[in-house]
Amino acid sequence: MFLRPTTLREAAQALSEGGQVLAGGTDFFPALGTKPVTGTIIDVTRIPELRGVDLSSDHVRFGGTTRWSEIAAAPLPRCFDALRAAAREVGGLQVQNRGTIAGNLCNASPAADSVPPLLILDAEVELTSNSGVRRLPVRDFILGNRKTCRRSNEILSSVIVPLQFKDSPSIFLKLGARRYLVISITMIAALLSNDGNGRVGEARVAVGSCSASSQRLLELERDLAGQTLRHGLSSLVCASHLSTLSPIDDVRASAAYRRDATLTLVRRALDGCVEAQS
Ligand SMILES: Cc1cc2nc3c(=O)[nH]c(=O)nc-3n(C[C@H](O)[C@H](O)[C@H](O)COP(=O)(O)OP(=O)(O)OC[C@H]3O[C@@H](n4cnc5c(N)ncnc54)[C@H](O)[C@@H]3O)c2cc1C
Repeated sequence: MFLRPTTLREAAQALSEGGQVLAGGTDFFPALGTKPVTGTIIDVTRIPELRGVDLSSDHVRFGGTTRWSEIAAAPLPRCFDALRAAAREVGGLQVQNRGTIAGNLCNASPAADSVPPLLILDAEVELTSNSGVRRLPVRDFILGNRKTCRRSNEILSSVIVPLQFKDSPSIFLKLGARRYLVISITMIAALLSNDGNGRVGEARVAVGSCSASSQRLLELERDLAGQTLRHGLSSLVCASHLSTLSPIDDVRASAAYRRDATLTLVRRALDGCVEAQS
């Protein structure tokens, strides 16, 4: 059965009776391989409550079915530069015109481009079911490779980002085996806030594709806080700051190459954040 509800309430009711959520289908259909679609499919792309980007004084809300091309084009504060850059790197234009932010998070690939930029912003997901709404940080929502704590009756209705770093520039860097339409070997999102006295207030650095799910480099963030915001700050980054990562050898790269490339990219991302402050 194929359902196309037009309200969130209807969709939640339908999902409570079983079935699978479908948004852009850019992960859903490839994952089927040659298998036919079975069971109830609930297409959530006709629900106005799930669309668009809303900017308020203290947060930004992305409806779950907001597409990558909409995020790339949205007029957002500088702290979203990394997320908007990531939006432009998700597949090609066709994929960006179909693929959604909620689909990327629910699919929970270790190489999901949205996750590092959302982790550095302390983003939260809102999950709606016919028994209510709950909110939790993205870092707690994604449990591992293709694993989330979404309950089978829940729809990821929105992604909410507090505006704590509003004017702090952020950077997203993605390394793949070629320039376009590529799954990352490693990717970095970074943000440095200025404490008003030319020093780092808060530092945020997250790495994707180098562990079962993207993660922040908390020790590095602590070491960066309070440092003078100057060219050369990135020389503070050393291999031990990456010790919590667990990159794998696969067809795209060896674990050793991933570690090495990540170190270089983290340094470049921090240089970029310093440069963007001036
Ligand atoms: C050619 C190609 C290139 C790609 N390149 C990249 C890339 O570079 N980087 C990258 O990160 N991804 C990439 N992807 C993956 C994909 O495009 C993204 O992950 C996209 O954001 C998925 O969104 P979607 O709306 O298409 O999800 P769908 O395919 O519709 O759904 C994905 C999963 O999430 C669930 N789901 C979707 N929406 C919701 C919701 N609101 N609530 C609850 N569950 C939901 C579905 O049930 C399904 O399990 C690529 C895909 C293709 C086909």
